[in-house]
Amino acid sequence: MKLKDRIAIVTGAASGIGAASARLFAAEGARVALVDLDEGGLAAVADEIRAKGGEALEIVADVSRDDQAGAGVDRVLQAWGKVDVLMTAAGISLGGTVDKIDEAIWDRTFAINVKGTYLWVHHAIRPMIAAGSGAIVTVGSQLAQASLGKNAAYVASKGAIASFTKTIAVDHAAQGIRVNALMPGVIDTPMPARSLQRQADPEAARQVWRQRHPMGRIGQPEEVARAALFLASDDSSFVTGTLLFVDGGWTAH
Ligand code: NAD
Repeated sequence: MKLKDRIAIVTGAASGIGAASARLFAAEGARVALVDLDEGGLAAVADEIRAKGGEALEIVADVSRDDQAGAGVDRVLQAWGKVDVLMTAAGISLGGTVDKIDEAIWDRTFAINVKGTYLWVHHAIRPMIAAGSGAIVTVGSQLAQASLGKNAAYVASKGAIASFTKTIAVDHAAQGIRVNALMPGVIDTPMPARSLQRQADPEAARQVWRQRHPMGRIGQPEEVARAALFLASDDSSFVTGTLLFVDGGWTAH
């Protein structure tokens, strides 16, 4: 077991990549705090983990709220005494070119994707610094490097997460904390399904996605979860400040 006796926090754990990662972390021995706005989704993932003998703590929170992030980390410390792993998977993607997106879309995207990452790192890294160890896995996107366009705020937010990840990796390496980002390709979760609904021809868009990955398909959340496990576990003991592309070759194209 790669995360035996570790305490992990996963934001965005009610769905998609966060849920798959939380399930895998629990299967690998971690006690997992599941953070999301979606109470029903959280309960379903927590029940699955418990049914397999794992331990889960449900934290209903808006990741863009400082008070809720602080209280969430405190709950984990009260329940389990430490934080070994933080994965920040909560995110939104609203689409739009810069001339069309209004200030509210920009602000909401940055509040959840960028500030939500900052806030959970800000609070969870403190017990890690005190303990002298920790692994943080943020979630960017391959679009930050090779964009398809038409999603200006989202792509900018993912670029911000990549830069944030690298600079905090430098700041905290000597304190025993590793910080790395996953940069997924298109992954089969509700998020791209919602993007398809915004397209005039969803099937054509789906075909472009498949072809844009040299592997000829989109990815599965479990494939990203296995990369998250690598970054969260001691298997990546000399890896920090890295952007790990899990994108079927998209950015190599
Ligand atoms: P998803 O929509 O399935 O899951 C996102 C989760 O975040 C949901 O459970 C949602 O309730 C939660 N969330 C949204 N706003 C929140 C808030 N304010 N507070 C707390 N929770 C909130 O999407 P996913 O595909 O699993 O995405 C997970 C991460 O992976 C996101 O950061 C996304 O940008 C990134 N990503 C996804 C893809 C993809 O193709 N699916 C590709 C690259 C990167």
